[in-house]
Amino acid sequence: MALIVQKYGGSSVGTIERIQNVARRVAHHHSQGNQVVVVVSAMQGETNRLLGLAHGLSKNPDPRELDVIASTGEQVTIGLLSIALQEQGYQAKSYTGGQVRVLTDSAFTKARILNIDRDRIIDDLNSGKIIVVAGFQGNDENGNITTLGRGGSDTSAVALAAALKADECQIYTDVDGVYTTDPRIVSDARRLDTITFEEMLEMASLGSKVLQIRSVEFAGKYKVKLRVLSSLDDPESNAPGTLITFEEKHNVEQEIISGIAFTRDEAKISIMGVEDRPGIAYAILGPVAEANIDVDMIVQNISESGHTDFSFTVNTGEYEKTLAVLERERAAGKYVAREINSDKTICKVSVVGIGMRTHAGVAAKMFRALASEGINIQVISTSEIKISVIIDEKYLELAVRVLHQAFELDQAPAEIS
Ligand code: ADP
Ligand code: ASP
Ligand code: MG
Repeated sequence: MALIVQKYGGSSVGTIERIQNVARRVAHHHSQGNQVVVVVSAMQGETNRLLGLAHGLSKNPDPRELDVIASTGEQVTIGLLSIALQEQGYQAKSYTGGQVRVLTDSAFTKARILNIDRDRIIDDLNSGKIIVVAGFQGNDENGNITTLGRGGSDTSAVALAAALKADECQIYTDVDGVYTTDPRIVSDARRLDTITFEEMLEMASLGSKVLQIRSVEFAGKYKVKLRVLSSLDDPESNAPGTLITFEEKHNVEQEIISGIAFTRDEAKISIMGVEDRPGIAYAILGPVAEANIDVDMIVQNISESGHTDFSFTVNTGEYEKTLAVLERERAAGKYVAREINSDKTICKVSVVGIGMRTHAGVAAKMFRALASEGINIQVISTSEIKISVIIDEKYLELAVRVLHQAFELDQAPAEIS
């Protein structure tokens, strides 16, 4: 008998019929003798709708109250799925995040899971029940409702799988696995049978929303067997999806690049004509960090007559807040600058692959492909297994397609004999 945690995202539970389908799939796994814990998201569009209500009242709503509101979406789905399972003749019981005691820190709207009580779930499973848990939410130590950031149900599922020492965590979504890039952008994107944990971590952190980054981090930390599958396939088809693996590839496959990730959720801020002196980067970015804002890419130009331009990117959600911090510090005389420019019409496109460690020329190939379409690169950053560029947002789809083609990602890699 195996213990499986299954997670179903918003589109998989978007209608009553789809919830009934999910119930059939869960029942199928339960009938095969497995213990099943199901984690569900809010019905498709519901979290946006709920947050929209709050933003209709305030430009800057209290994050604690946002979590009170947003967490209700998942509460509806757990009740509906439990009823659907009961209608199909199974014992099912729903729990909110707080009820299973998903303990988080108090960072409202982006809380981190600290601990999960396993005892109550184990007791219920041992009595033959199917357990349905609300994703995306927990409680802090004072009993406040918290949410885990957009896409956070993935993390709820993997954290539960880790806490329960589950045999597998299955993330069911509207695509049948992890692809070389978002199949909605590139129609000949290819499903990967496996992807290494490190590559998946980079893909997720660079914008592939198929898995929330924290879920991948959890899987790595607790070695959870994690698989991405389609909720729309026939349950009996046994489609394998994509398995996240923890072994290094043994050179069996010649892949240099495994995938292309992208995000529109970044904004660029440039501080022009700033004095070039020791401590200037700290004077600008120190207060930004203190305001709990994550800075992504940073570039400082070569200085001319003692002045330079300093640019960095932040998540678009934190863009207004960042500008306010920068203006405040500038007004207080902490640094002197000619002007502060900002640009939300940018995007970040990244190529990811552990093969880059042993292959030179990936950057040149990437830049050549972008140049061939006249796409200007504004900022570049690299790590051992990824290269990211900031470009004008209007070229996003073109850039992803041209890179997918340049690295021949539509073709399965040749085996080395
Ligand atoms: P869910 O509601 O099930 O959590 P998401 O919308 O969060 O689903 O994630 C699934 C979506 O991720 C897919 O529909 C696809 O458009 C997108 N996606 C982005 N990059 C990839 C990729 N490399 N492979 C597969 N899907 C991807
Ligand atoms: N419902 C939440 C969201 O839309 C969490 C999730 O779907 O994973 O972000
Ligand atoms: Mg998701």
